[in-house]
Amino acid sequence: MSQKGEFIYLSPPHMGGREQQYVQQAFDQNWITTAGANVNGFEQELASYIGVPAAAALASGTAALHLALLALGVCPGDEVFCSTFTFVASTNPIRYVGATPVLIDSEPTTWNLCPTALEQALENRYKNGKLPKALMLVHLYGMPSRMQEIQELAQHYGVPIIEDAAEALGSRYKGRLLGTFGKMGVFSFNGNKIITTSGGGALVSSESDLVEQTRWLAMQAKDDLPYYHHTTMGYNYRLSNICAGIGRGQLEVLEERVQQRRKIFSNYQELLRDVAELEWHQEPEGFYSNRWLSCFTIKQGSQLTPEALRQTLLAANIESRPLWQPMHRQPLYQSCDYFGEHVSDDLFARGLCLPSGSSLSFSDQERVADVIRKAFRG
Ligand SMILES: *Cc1c(COP(=O)(O)O)cnc(C)c1O
Repeated sequence: MSQKGEFIYLSPPHMGGREQQYVQQAFDQNWITTAGANVNGFEQELASYIGVPAAAALASGTAALHLALLALGVCPGDEVFCSTFTFVASTNPIRYVGATPVLIDSEPTTWNLCPTALEQALENRYKNGKLPKALMLVHLYGMPSRMQEIQELAQHYGVPIIEDAAEALGSRYKGRLLGTFGKMGVFSFNGNKIITTSGGGALVSSESDLVEQTRWLAMQAKDDLPYYHHTTMGYNYRLSNICAGIGRGQLEVLEERVQQRRKIFSNYQELLRDVAELEWHQEPEGFYSNRWLSCFTIKQGSQLTPEALRQTLLAANIESRPLWQPMHRQPLYQSCDYFGEHVSDDLFARGLCLPSGSSLSFSDQERVADVIRKAFRG
């Protein structure tokens, strides 16, 4: 171990212990493919955790978002509204289906979709005579969006919601799990998410036929005939039985992982209580975040930039990360229509994500906090 201490990663995988048993079962049964007991079991166990009749286990969260758009019949020429403050995997699938993203800004408390900006965008498109085919709603860093206001608007204009809950498995809004508010909900099991299958994703819905259609599209859309017959273009997007085995072990510890991440957030807040420059990502009454990543913004007027702080942490062998750069600032998406007041630009300019892995020890959290305090206090 160097003097600086071991490298602390942002959000490393954290196995529960039973994953290898499920993987071993797949080997024992020789189901080394995209079908088998683990895929079926993982789908059932995820659906039962979420409280929906069915789930589709897929190769990635991105694939799940792509299939969700296809299941809604989004076509070239359609518009899809999307939170601008997100990871590029939310917007890319809109382009995969040939549709056009319209980017909507954040509001400053949850950092998620601003209902006022959404209303402006909906009114604008209503007046122009063509509403968006869907709303891609992202719950960033596990924080629920303002569901009541957003659902009221979406219902009023008849626009279906796809919930990008890739970062928000286990989060709740007024007691109800995220992923169940939209017509479809999507999760990611990428290596850095709250639970992982090494790589993977899932789509859930209260409508079983949508889930079935998604699963069918994910398996090359073969028509129900004894020979290979195709009327629809499908994809090879199903999760492997090996990865699903990891997922089954991970699901068993999901609630524990949520508690651990929430504890890490509250520890940071407590350890850094004396650093008045920090504004922690708030959780309003009735909102329950899985605290996938512990994040803050640095108050306006502080001498220290998030980038300088990131460098200082890195020099101490600690990984941290800027908040997502909004899509309307990306070369790939800056030409898109945008509605809002540049709240997300301000968050990007002032924010930072701290190491938040559920296996992070308290002494490592103290190490992170000490570096941050010294960076502000000298
Ligand atoms: C991780 C993530 C995705 C994509 O999930 P993958 O499984 O990596 O494809 C989509 N949206 C958001 C907001 C994410 O954080």
